[in-house]
Amino acid sequence: MSKEVRVRFAPSPTGALHIGGVRTALYNYLFARKNGGKFLLRIEDTDQNRYVPGAEDYIKNSLDWIGISPDESPWTPGDCGPYRQSERKTMYMEYAQYLLEKGHAYYAFDTSEELEAMRQRLTAARVVSPQYNSITRTQMKNSLTLPADEVKARLDSGEPYVIRIKIPRKEEVRLNDMVRGWVLVHSNSLDDKVLMKSDGMPTYHLANIVDDHLMGITHVIRGEEWLPSAPLHVLLYRYLGWEDSMPEFAHLPLLLKPDGNGKLSKRDAEKHGFPIFPLEWKDPQSGDMVAGFKEAGYLPEAFLNFIAFLGWNPGDQRELFTLEELIAAFSIERIGKSGTKFDINKAKWYNEQYLRHKSDRELAAYLLADLEKERMTLSTEKAEKIASVMKERATFPSDLWNEGKFMLVAPDTFDQQVAEKRWNQDAIAVLKAFRNHLQDETEPLSAESAKSMLAAAAASEDIKLGKVMQAVRLAVTGVGAGPDLMQIFEILGREELIKRIDFALHTLGNQ
Ligand code: GLU
Repeated sequence: MSKEVRVRFAPSPTGALHIGGVRTALYNYLFARKNGGKFLLRIEDTDQNRYVPGAEDYIKNSLDWIGISPDESPWTPGDCGPYRQSERKTMYMEYAQYLLEKGHAYYAFDTSEELEAMRQRLTAARVVSPQYNSITRTQMKNSLTLPADEVKARLDSGEPYVIRIKIPRKEEVRLNDMVRGWVLVHSNSLDDKVLMKSDGMPTYHLANIVDDHLMGITHVIRGEEWLPSAPLHVLLYRYLGWEDSMPEFAHLPLLLKPDGNGKLSKRDAEKHGFPIFPLEWKDPQSGDMVAGFKEAGYLPEAFLNFIAFLGWNPGDQRELFTLEELIAAFSIERIGKSGTKFDINKAKWYNEQYLRHKSDRELAAYLLADLEKERMTLSTEKAEKIASVMKERATFPSDLWNEGKFMLVAPDTFDQQVAEKRWNQDAIAVLKAFRNHLQDETEPLSAESAKSMLAAAAASEDIKLGKVMQAVRLAVTGVGAGPDLMQIFEILGREELIKRIDFALHTLGNQ
């Protein structure tokens, strides 16, 4: 039997989770579910300087919102805990020691001034990317250049040091990425990355490899920005003796700006006025608040469907997928290599689709909640009717109230342009006749009875109804376009309708 699939999402709690991070989490989740495996969440908080309070909760809440909670995490631990790297601190040194013993790592004592001097020296010599590597390390203060007794003395005296990986000078490192195919890197382009920092904390690279191994991770699915680190990771697996159980890699395509030029950033979101975070985020330092997709009115199922398609497609025309359907359809083979343009209109389209799938009752609840904020009350029955009329035209739940306000509050102004074009003798005559029909009627108004009364009114004046329809709409709603007018009449009811017609005749002129 093949090994159980175990994948992980490994965010660093350095702020709000960007939409790209949520997509990474989703693809991991889908892959795990599809293969009957486990989805883990590991908090990579080895860089204490970048730790932002609240970020962990934010990650958790974001995943919960779209229904992809991890099987194992700091909040729901399994057998491979702790799931926070800061709590695993003592585990890493052992592996760094092993690498030292095997000659794949070394101590380095260089001060930051010395490192800076090296960079300046190399820059002056026109080296494009000055690095601590297989060539420069021979001129630095480390256990490869210093005599053994001096190294020992420095360590014994408690002098600060880091442990670096010793990258071989001439070696080809290969890895077969599930998305990109074979990736080949020459070791002379790699630098001797720090594995253990002077504060005793591991760096991302060491901690990530050790944890993926100890947690039994079988597939590493992560953003393309980590592809340059992958050869180093392959070497670490090899040097730690874990090459046989090395996970497979899948690097996900970048999310691009709406125009396709470059990586999507927070600034693009600000510039174009769309959200980039799943949930609202308050920066604990500046106090700045940024709205998320949720607060902007996106439904979790629409957001989920939208991000699923940022880099993946099912290979056919289908676009609407529930989480269950995504699990069934998902495969890494169908993840694209090239970056995906971020198109907020697509997100809106998804929202409209999911909004229309909701029952009038569910939609009425949104409307009633908005009304409560306005200190207005309305019967559920009426709220459902309004929801039913408005849903074809709404992108967000808040549109039910914002765009449907006219059904509850009579207009006090009229669209000037429409009035100039459409308000005329014919319209006035039909509206007056319609008003009289309404007054004579005793039955409650329905869309059908309103329709026949209006038709009768136009016929009695010998006027084609089509010619005055927009003026009738203007009189009742204040604007020239909107949902089905007869439905609106039914919702308004006889008395309100008469009141509105009278006000329009009075304001716009009645002769
Ligand atoms: N901690 C890394 C991040 O913040 C994880 C990268 C990986 O998945 O290996 O994205």
